[in-house]
Amino acid sequence: MNVKTAIKKIIKHLFPEACVGCNIRLSHENLLCTDCMYDLPITDHHMISNNSFTNHFLGRVNIEKGAAYLHFRKEGAVQELMHKFKYGGKFFIGVFLGNMAAELVEKVDYFKDIDIIIPVPLHKVKKSIRGYNQCEAFAQGLSEYSNIPCSVDILLKIKNTSSQTKKSRIQRIENVEKSFFVTTKVDLNNKHILIVDDVVTTGATLEACALALMKVYPGVKISMYTIAIANS
Ligand SMILES: [Zn+2]
Repeated sequence: MNVKTAIKKIIKHLFPEACVGCNIRLSHENLLCTDCMYDLPITDHHMISNNSFTNHFLGRVNIEKGAAYLHFRKEGAVQELMHKFKYGGKFFIGVFLGNMAAELVEKVDYFKDIDIIIPVPLHKVKKSIRGYNQCEAFAQGLSEYSNIPCSVDILLKIKNTSSQTKKSRIQRIENVEKSFFVTTKVDLNNKHILIVDDVVTTGATLEACALALMKVYPGVKISMYTIAIANS
């Protein structure tokens, strides 16, 4: 054991962490206790090509494959986890989720042929308020595990869209359609891109990102992976 690992161990012993899901003291686990980990509502999307995730995009945008790691529940560990991650300044929760989500889908070769991971961008104003883009954290975790490069400067959010929650599906799409910009820093012609988001609800944001990338690079293939899916 090197000095750094030893110090980390001592700190962990002196200040034991609490489970992000249920707040019980953790002994040797990372972030989640064994019970919360066991109860995670993992989807079977990665096993089925036509699933409740890909259904969102039928007739709207052509995607190779799509999956969410978890079902979003209004209560319980996932809600706690997502809340602390999104608003509690805990970037590492996203990286942790990315690692676990990658481990799950790697079993079915989900990353096969994927050339690059691109997280859904956050407008710079929003990013500076929140401190980070939560999708980048998840993308980083996926990238670390799969060794597929992740780029945060190809797809940019140029318009700070207003809250989407009270808008209809059509209004949401119109609202986000013109808010993304694709730089030409890297040639993505004929590449297979994995777009990564936190929670998919209507799919409007992911659809707009896919369309923006396809407009600049008509030959790209698009797949998607999100931390969670709502209403399914
Ligand atoms: Zn727990």
